[in-house]
Amino acid sequence: MRALQLSPTSIKTYTRCPYAYGLDKIARSPRYRRVIAPELHTGRSVHTVLEHLVRQPEVSRADAERSLDETFAWHVYDDPTTAQAAYQTARERLSDWVNFPYGWGDGQTLAVEKLLRTPSRDGLVLLGKPDLVREHPNGSLEVVDHKSGRFVPTLAELKMDYQAGIYRLLAEQHWPGYPHYQVSFSYLATGAVVPVAYTPSEIEHWWTVLSRIGERIGRARASVVEGDIPLPEAFPPQPGEQCERCPFRKVCTFSDAHRRNED
Ligand code: SF4
Repeated sequence: MRALQLSPTSIKTYTRCPYAYGLDKIARSPRYRRVIAPELHTGRSVHTVLEHLVRQPEVSRADAERSLDETFAWHVYDDPTTAQAAYQTARERLSDWVNFPYGWGDGQTLAVEKLLRTPSRDGLVLLGKPDLVREHPNGSLEVVDHKSGRFVPTLAELKMDYQAGIYRLLAEQHWPGYPHYQVSFSYLATGAVVPVAYTPSEIEHWWTVLSRIGERIGRARASVVEGDIPLPEAFPPQPGEQCERCPFRKVCTFSDAHRRNED
């Protein structure tokens, strides 16, 4: 069986609800049956414009607004009111970034929205698509991830975040030899930037943690694909608060809402 590929998003899906992961990666539930939260579309719009802006020699509000107008996907929202609110939010987040364009200007840009992957190790391939990778003016290698939500987690929480761990591993894999590596989370709405760095033993620990998750998922995948075990048995549903925002809530018969309707 081919190596298992894990991204920060797929691991978060699996840890929230293994069945959601199974529907996504094993059953490959078609896109039209999924429900994408409006804020995810909005975040995508902001990132599309930022991808354009960080490559520009000058940062301007007019350029940000023009680019948003050209790329904003009005049709993905359920109704015009939600779409208008999302457009306004995207516009505000971009205006926040123009006021404090973290990641733009100083330093040398090495990659923008580039898909990175590790070679296979213990049957596992890690992949991720950071917003920006640059050589920081202080000589370190920095991966920048822009967040459009308002909530800013603590440094301790971010150090435990799969995204930080995977981006850190990918950074050294692709750009080895830097004296220092950091993953910086940039919160557009507040201007906060939280840099996360790891010691060599913490990095090795990430490999251990991720390999264990990979082994677990790999065994479950093999039991479905080769052993004909039903999907919900190999990837047990985890109904709860997360069902409200789950892309599979319309097709999942284990969801909280579905169970309430049955009662
Ligand atoms: S709706 Fe709930 S139980 Fe069903 S896949 Fe999503 S999170 Fe899991």
